[in-house]
Amino acid sequence: MEVPSLKMNNGRDMPAIGLGTYLGFDQNGVVKSKDKQLRDVVMRAIDVGYRHFDTASVYETEQEIGEAVKMKVEEGVVKREDIFITTKLWNTQHRRTEVAQAINDSLKKLGLDYIDLYLMHWPIGLNADYSHSDVDFMETWRGLEDAQRMGIVKGIGLSNFNKQQLERVLKEGTIKPDAIQIEVHLQNVQKEMVEFCQSEGVVVMGYSPFGSLVARHGSTVEGPKIDDPVLSSIAQKYGKTTPQIVLRWQIERKVVPIPKTVNPKRLEENINIFDFTLTPDEVEKINGFDTHTRYTLPSFWQNHPYYPFDKVDNPIADPFIKV
Ligand code: NDP
Repeated sequence: MEVPSLKMNNGRDMPAIGLGTYLGFDQNGVVKSKDKQLRDVVMRAIDVGYRHFDTASVYETEQEIGEAVKMKVEEGVVKREDIFITTKLWNTQHRRTEVAQAINDSLKKLGLDYIDLYLMHWPIGLNADYSHSDVDFMETWRGLEDAQRMGIVKGIGLSNFNKQQLERVLKEGTIKPDAIQIEVHLQNVQKEMVEFCQSEGVVVMGYSPFGSLVARHGSTVEGPKIDDPVLSSIAQKYGKTTPQIVLRWQIERKVVPIPKTVNPKRLEENINIFDFTLTPDEVEKINGFDTHTRYTLPSFWQNHPYYPFDKVDNPIADPFIKV
């Protein structure tokens, strides 16, 4: 499957779909790949046409992605420059001087000498003990700009920033963000934010692209499911599945979905979306599912000065702090 690409502010191309590699969180912390399962998934993903992989230092998947890329380059299936790696700076390394070290750690795990796209995972800076730090995200952004000038990252961007925070980076930064990764799915269409980002040339990557459609990391949420009648009738028309329709809807909006799967059949299903298009009416119909609902809502950080989302009445306990 040939995947089209989107042009970023730095003039480079981002493949229009990426494979998500966050494996979830349980009582022991971040869920880790067992028996090189993720490495094998990424190798298979490369075979079926994926060229873009989304990771983060906090996901602990960089090493297996790197191993898979190395093996596929050695097999002669791809060249390094055919692959696009997005990874992210964690909140505990927000000082300008810490950014290059964090990137070098990621490069070492990936076994690469540059990263295609490096994102600030959250605008929120934290100390090593996860107490709130007062580092301004503009200081962190300057660290990302330094890294791009050094050439260890080719593109830089943001994740989980709200519109006002992005506006500040656009105003005060010296390099325009190449991309922003935010939660985009049926229940969180983000029409205004997507249009604003795109008007500034900032490519939008949509995380958790299936929304309520499927169970994520073992838990289900309210909302339309795979057998939803509206989505099913569109799916039937094109001979596709509802997950494919939802991914294609993001492609039509020039949002780069990063669906996660470790299942070989679904890996192929999710990339098999480039041989049909939805009509503008169908896109509009799917936009109508919007309920402005977020599933990634770290309310335990909501008293941080740079918390990007609306506060809730009953914040959840911080899973990163062991009591
Ligand atoms: P997704 O919307 O990608 O859903 C993943 C779930 O869907 C998994 O349980 C997967 O199970 C299942 N699935 C995948 N494809 C299909 C299919 N075709 N049919 C039925 N079920 C399917 O959610 P995520 O939250 O994982 O988001 C995707 C990626 O976005 C993450 O992996 C990560 O890279 C990124 N992300 C970034 C965040 C940020 O803060 N920047 C926050 C959250 C995510 P199975 O594996 O068994 O197929």
